[in-house]
Amino acid sequence: MEASLDNASELPDAVPPDTSVAGTGYTTPTFLQALIDADILIPTGVDGIYGRSGVYEAIAEGMNALVTQAGADQHAEVLRFPPTTPRKDFEDSEYLKSFPHLAGTVHSFCGNERDHFRLLERLEEGEDWTDQQRPTRVVLTPAACYPIYPVMARRGPLPPEGRVVDVFSYCFRHEPSLEPTRMQMFRMREYVRLGNAGQILAFRQMWIERGQALADQLELRHMLDVANDPFFGRGGKLVADNQRDQKLKFELLIPVNDGAPPTACMSFNYHVDHFSTVWTLRTSDGEKAHTGCAAFGIDRLTLALLRQHGLELGQWPKTVRAALGGI
Ligand code: 5GP
Ligand code: ZN
Repeated sequence: MEASLDNASELPDAVPPDTSVAGTGYTTPTFLQALIDADILIPTGVDGIYGRSGVYEAIAEGMNALVTQAGADQHAEVLRFPPTTPRKDFEDSEYLKSFPHLAGTVHSFCGNERDHFRLLERLEEGEDWTDQQRPTRVVLTPAACYPIYPVMARRGPLPPEGRVVDVFSYCFRHEPSLEPTRMQMFRMREYVRLGNAGQILAFRQMWIERGQALADQLELRHMLDVANDPFFGRGGKLVADNQRDQKLKFELLIPVNDGAPPTACMSFNYHVDHFSTVWTLRTSDGEKAHTGCAAFGIDRLTLALLRQHGLELGQWPKTVRAALGGI
């Protein structure tokens, strides 16, 4: 999530806006407009949903491969899921308690011919037809690690050394925005750790250091800060404050957007025993398992590279191109 920071004076230089448009809070040409003008992002007419060019994809794939390289010694179990989660697991996860405003559900037409006729009629009249849709058994995945906890719970207690899982998914969050870094569908790569508290905290510290080293290698200006997730409502504010007080979430922030605070491009999370309260995730000695994850926003990192090194790959530092697989 994008962090709001009080210690802005300690931040690396914000990317200077080109020219500001008085009163709008936006600048022109915005980074988004520059990406569109260069055919790197292809607008679809919906804010936060873009097509991507070959160059963009090459950077994103290079970025993902670099994360694989950084985690090679983890011998993580690789698991890939389509960008959907069973609705039942999603309901159990309590996501709707915390982030109802971000959730995306999948609905389909399940009616008979008469219903179909009604649907077409409404469409023809320009009326709302979506009440003819029914919820399916799947929702859109909100974070790459969500599908794995019930799967791990079904396997029984963890081995004594716990587990490390490597996941990657397109994720959906309903937050349309003109900031290119706030997409509605974006790719998230994660290493997820399941074990006891000590194992999770050691894992998270190791990934914080690796994340910083990755950003250094890519010559991206960055800083680390404590963060919170955007919990919904007044009660959510208390949960967010508690998350910060307990330092459960750290983010690696990189300046990307015009005149805006830096963007969270990686996050390092400690969920304590949240997921083992929801599912029967147990350690080898029968205790509630703790979990944590290191998440890499592949699209945000791609945008950060384009912002800090420019839209012309030819102008990028050679070492950065080499680190991304020789793009
Ligand atoms: P978190 O679960 O910590 O909110 O997200 C994990 C990572 O996913 C973030 O650090 C960020 O890199 C990426 N991410 C979160 N929200 C968005 C978004 O709206 N757009 C994009 N492109 N990436 C996001
Ligand atoms: Zn996660």
